[in-house]
Amino acid sequence: MPPKPAGSPLELFLARIEIDPFGCWYWTGHIDNKGYGRFFVNTNRQNCRAGETGIHNTLKTHCPQGHPYNRANTYVYHTQDGRALRQCRVCHAEGERKRRLLCALSKV
Ligand SMILES: [Zn+2]
Repeated sequence: MPPKPAGSPLELFLARIEIDPFGCWYWTGHIDNKGYGRFFVNTNRQNCRAGETGIHNTLKTHCPQGHPYNRANTYVYHTQDGRALRQCRVCHAEGERKRRLLCALSKV
């Protein structure tokens, strides 16, 4: 059995795309019998959906509050199933500030 390819769902997806000199993107991965390109993160349907969500989220450039997902403002952590998730540092700091404030108020 060949080794499982390594990488995030986005990396695995992008590895199957070739871009020609005119900027057209070509799918080099599996093509089904109807001619459509196919991409599976996992054979489990639920995990596949989670992978698609992961790709969608990876393409977002800002957090839900509008802060940029750049190197300075982004925590990257990995789930146990190997997915890389991002967290906005500004929102994380704000959440921690609120948590500490609630904790301090609960002691008054
Ligand atoms: Zn944010």
